[in-house]
Amino acid sequence: MRLTFPRPLYEQVVAYVLSDLAYEMCGLLAGQDGIVDRVWPVPNALHSPVAYRMDGPEFITAMAACGFEPLGIFHSHPSGPPVPSPTDIAEAAYPDSLYVVISWQDMSPSVRAFRIIDGRVSEVKIDILV
Ligand SMILES: [Zn+2]
Repeated sequence: MRLTFPRPLYEQVVAYVLSDLAYEMCGLLAGQDGIVDRVWPVPNALHSPVAYRMDGPEFITAMAACGFEPLGIFHSHPSGPPVPSPTDIAEAAYPDSLYVVISWQDMSPSVRAFRIIDGRVSEVKIDILV
């Protein structure tokens, strides 16, 4: 299992989450067979630098666009490492989705993807199509 981004969509995700480093930024990735074909930013309802939650009409619209089975769920860690936090793991409710974490901890983007099932985390390789 891999997660494959066309480069423009990868750059869209990175640019979006870096557009505001005061909060965790989040959204959904639509696609099939591990290949991202659309990025859906969703507001972080918590407005927090250390947590995120997606709800409200923007989330429903994004979920509907993904057929309620998002390929990926992304969020940023403005000052944390590029791995799921204990809260991320505890709250991971979509075992069929990949969790993408974009970290700015080292002042350059670090992007990693994970599957989270019943509290168990396994990393998934990211490929970027040029
Ligand atoms: Zn997190």
